[in-house]
Amino acid sequence: MESARGRVDGRSAEAAEYRKLYDTARWKRLREAVRAEQPLCVMCLRDDVVTEADVVDHIKPHHGDHLLFFDMSNLQPLCKQHHDRDKQQMERGTYIEFGPDGWPVE
Ligand SMILES: [Zn+2]
Repeated sequence: MESARGRVDGRSAEAAEYRKLYDTARWKRLREAVRAEQPLCVMCLRDDVVTEADVVDHIKPHHGDHLLFFDMSNLQPLCKQHHDRDKQQMERGTYIEFGPDGWPVE
């Protein structure tokens, strides 16, 4: 949607771009493929807890990068609790380190 008011601030323009990515058929297919392969929260599984995943999360933040966004190896199914906990950690500025297997190191 074009804005008649001219410039929008960078952050909301970026957020709007992200939302467009989540609206694509490509993303919806990818998300379903991830959940078909692993319907359980991978973080719960590491603690031997079985929880159905609510969201498909990007392991490395994509920042609008299409390669990272559509990279199946960059996706993990998470329950809402783990997804929200992760986001809160990022907001607090906790650095998340990734191991050689691509999973966050705790
Ligand atoms: Zn979980």
